[in-house]
This record gives sequence, C-alpha cells and structure tokens, in this order.
Amino acid sequence: MSGILVVLEQSRAEQSRESSLGRISWEALAAGRWLGAKLSLDVSAAILGAETGAAAQQIATKAGGNIVRIEHPLLAPYTADGFSLALQQLIARQPPAYVIFPHTYQVRDFVPALAARLGEVFISDVVAIADGPVFTRQLLQGRLQGNYRHTGSGPCLVSVQAGAFRADAATPAPAGEITVFTPQIEAAQIRTRPEAPFRGSEQTVDLGSAPLIVSVGRGIKDAENLPLVEDLAKALGAELAASRPICDNGWLPMERQVGSSGQTVAPKLYLAVGISGAIQHLVGMKGSQCVVAINKDPDAPIFEVADYGIVGDLFEVVPALIDAVKAAKG
Ligand SMILES: Cc1cc2nc3c(=O)[nH]c(=O)nc-3n(C[C@H](O)[C@H](O)[C@H](O)COP(=O)(O)OP(=O)(O)OC[C@H]3O[C@@H](n4cnc5c(N)ncnc54)[C@H](O)[C@@H]3O)c2cc1C
Repeated sequence: MSGILVVLEQSRAEQSRESSLGRISWEALAAGRWLGAKLSLDVSAAILGAETGAAAQQIATKAGGNIVRIEHPLLAPYTADGFSLALQQLIARQPPAYVIFPHTYQVRDFVPALAARLGEVFISDVVAIADGPVFTRQLLQGRLQGNYRHTGSGPCLVSVQAGAFRADAATPAPAGEITVFTPQIEAAQIRTRPEAPFRGSEQTVDLGSAPLIVSVGRGIKDAENLPLVEDLAKALGAELAASRPICDNGWLPMERQVGSSGQTVAPKLYLAVGISGAIQHLVGMKGSQCVVAINKDPDAPIFEVADYGIVGDLFEVVPALIDAVKAAKG
C-alpha cells in the first residue's frame, strides 16, 4: 500500500451536470496534502459520478496533482451501494495507505459501508492530525477529545470536519495525470432508489461555504426583532444563521441552524448575536477563523471561543454596528 487518496465530493448541482466542489472538499485535499508532505507519500484526488470531467478539470486547475475520475452511469444519482462498490474496486486495484474524505452527509452515509467491505475502521469527523499520524476526534459533544492511531493492515479511512483544515492551505501540486477508472457495477447491486435531494439546490443555504455569517440566538427575544440582525447581515454581505431555539421556534428555517444537530460552519467571520455558547452550538462554529460575540452576560461561554467580545445589550450594539459598517463602506 502506498500513497494517499483524497475523495472529493461534487455538490448537488452534479445532477444538472454543472460541476461544483464545496469548500470542505478542498479542505480534505489540504489535509491529504499536509499528511502526504509529513509522510513523504504521493497524494491523488478522486471524484465519483456519472460525469466527472468538469470537476476533474476544476481540481486540475486549482490544485494540480494526479486525479482519478471514477465514472459509471450508475453513480448518478448518488447511492451508498454505488459509491462504496466503486471505491472498493479502485482501492483493490491501487491500494492507498490513507483515504481522506470531507466529513459530509454523503460520506457519513457510504464510508461506513466501504469500511465494512474492507474490514477496516472509519476514523470519522477528525478535527486535527498530528505526527504519527494521530487523528483527533471530538467526543461527547466536544467535551472530550480522542486520539486515534490506525493499526489495521488495510487502508486507513479518515474524514475531516469542516473548518479543521484551511482550504487555501492546500499546496498546489505540479500538473499530473487525469485518468478514468470504470468500476464494474450492475443495476441489481444498487439496492436503493433515491428520491430528489432533501434540500432543493435552488434554495439551498450553504452556510458551510459562507465566508461571513451573522448568527442570532435567543437573546433576540422575539421573531419581530429579527429584521435587526437581518439588516446587520445585509450591511456586511453575510449569511444569516441561528442557534437551535430560533429554528425550533420556526423563526428561521432549520437549514440556518448551526451546531451539532445543524450545519457545521467555518467562515472567516462568525458574529454571534445573543447566543450563550452551549456546547452543541460551539461544535458547529468553532472552526471559524474569527469569532465576534455580542452578549449582555460577561460570563457567557461564547466569550471563551470569541476573538472579540462585546459585553452589552444587542439592541444597542447592533444598530451602532450597522451604522459603523455602512459608514465604513461609504
Ligand atoms: C441533542 C441536542 C442537540 C442540540 N443541537 C443544537 C444545535 O445544533 N445548535 C444549537 O444552537 N443548539 C443546539 N442545542 C441546544 C443547546 O443546548 C442550547 O440550548 C442552545 O444553543 C441555546 O441557544 P441560545 O444560545 O440562542 O439561547 P440561550 O442559551 O437562551 O442564550 C441566550 C443568550 O442571549 C443573551 N442575551 C439575552 N438578552 C440579550 C440582549 N438583549 N443582548 C445581548 N445578549 C442577550 C443571554 O445572556 C444568553 O447568553 C442542542 C441541544 C441538545 C440537547
């Protein structure tokens, strides 16, 4: 076994044949390249689908290196059976030492099946990789960290959490080869018939790729006060997100929820307005590059992860901030 295979993921737009790779895929590639440099291993990227030419070209242009297009008509739409079968066959032909995935819903769905087929464990949701390599995962909603070493004889399967690696840290590689691998898949092996994706691609809020997020919590008190934070988001050009109570109340759609039962985000700026910083919220946003918190309680846990904290009443601070942003933008 040798080398590192990073499996990138095409977004839902694949169904309309428009290629698009989410930021977390580039983060996984950065993780693979980092590990490759540490262990002096070659790193290849792979992409699965019925039509992967555009995505492969995008990887070649942005990141270089060797790319494997794993292509078969039965790989669209996505199914766990199709993807695990196809990758198992590629791995059997060119066994890598490590296979790195972005930690997405799709990966959570099919990689356990792939691991079972290979008789290996899946070290999922990794937040850091240290020399060894030692893979760190969060346990008990982030209260504990577990360190894992791979001791199996087959490839080590790892998924990296959004925000754990910086997408722009992937060292570009010299241009490599783009090869096509056609797995042997029969229609009868695909046991599921997927329906339309549960999030419509038109309306999807991809908080995971948003560079700026204004996130609102129960401190806003009432749905009728939401326009205040919407105005701040608009002034900054940011996406609006929320803590769980806001979405549970139906004040904002569930797809805007950040946290352990919502989306994981890693923006350049995360502005938390009236959010206490419960652990279930923190696990979804602590990969943010800069956290600014506004809270009237100086002991709110959100301040422990904040780079900048404003202790004050959001109903005074946010209007002043909107004025300042507008003035700064001219
Ligand atoms: C299994 C499970 C999964 C969960 N998943 C999630 C999840 O994915 N995401 C999530 O967010 N939560 C999740 N939770 C809920 C989580 O435990 C917290 O209850 C929730 O995050 C609290 O939201 P909040 O910070 O908006 O509200 P609160 O904890 O009520 O905090 C409100 C904050 O606003 C401040 N405040 C009040 N008024 C003002 C004011 N005028 N100006 C400034 N500050 C003010 C207060 O000081 C307080 O700190 C989950 C819980 C469980 C059990």
